[in-house]
Amino acid sequence: MSALLDSGSHLHAPNFSDGELAELNARFERAAASTIIEWAVEQFHPFMCLSASMTDALLIDLAVSVEPSIEVVFIDTGYHFPETLETVEVVRRHYGLNLRVLTVPPQPVELWQADPENCCSAAKVEQLDRALVGKLAWMSGLRRSEAPTRANAPIVARDLRGLVKVNPIATWSDTDVDGYIADHGIPVNPLLARGYPSIGCWPCTRPVADGEDPRAGRWAGRDKTECGLHL
Ligand code: SF4
Repeated sequence: MSALLDSGSHLHAPNFSDGELAELNARFERAAASTIIEWAVEQFHPFMCLSASMTDALLIDLAVSVEPSIEVVFIDTGYHFPETLETVEVVRRHYGLNLRVLTVPPQPVELWQADPENCCSAAKVEQLDRALVGKLAWMSGLRRSEAPTRANAPIVARDLRGLVKVNPIATWSDTDVDGYIADHGIPVNPLLARGYPSIGCWPCTRPVADGEDPRAGRWAGRDKTECGLHL
């Protein structure tokens, strides 16, 4: 029986204090991503999942090397580029993934245009909430160098639900990512090579020019920079 279950099979979340989280972040600041993932798996598996955007399979590659049965969650908003959905299948086959795809009920017409906050809330955040029922922790590939809004992202934190959120590659630079992908033959979304360094839903993502902020193509022209998944 998992150490997270008592004799009545009730789930108990490890209760990390703010001080313990700070210590973990200090310890992991220079740790290898695989070391961070090993810690997370030891603490939370099987009550943990990995949320994947399918921009590339780097974090998936690292995670399944530690624990092949880890649950990978992909939220199909109904607005993904065909290339992203193709990448989901390529990655699923490549790794024999334990993949869970969450689909979204049809939205009112063009909600993304009229009210992107509520569109993201219904199509992304509510689906992640659903994916995290019965979980204690989740992992994401969020990195500090992706955007100024992410510059201080912790490696281990508590999210708004009270679950533990682990960002094993928070400290990785773009060069680190490109090097790992090249060295390990990691599957990537073909849109990366077509000027889309950050890939979301097609209505809210445009390609960026050389030298532009990598996330400048997300919700371009709107006062919105994040979908709300990483809160
Ligand atoms: S990124 Fe755009 S289309 Fe996708 S959920 Fe958010 S508002 Fe809707």
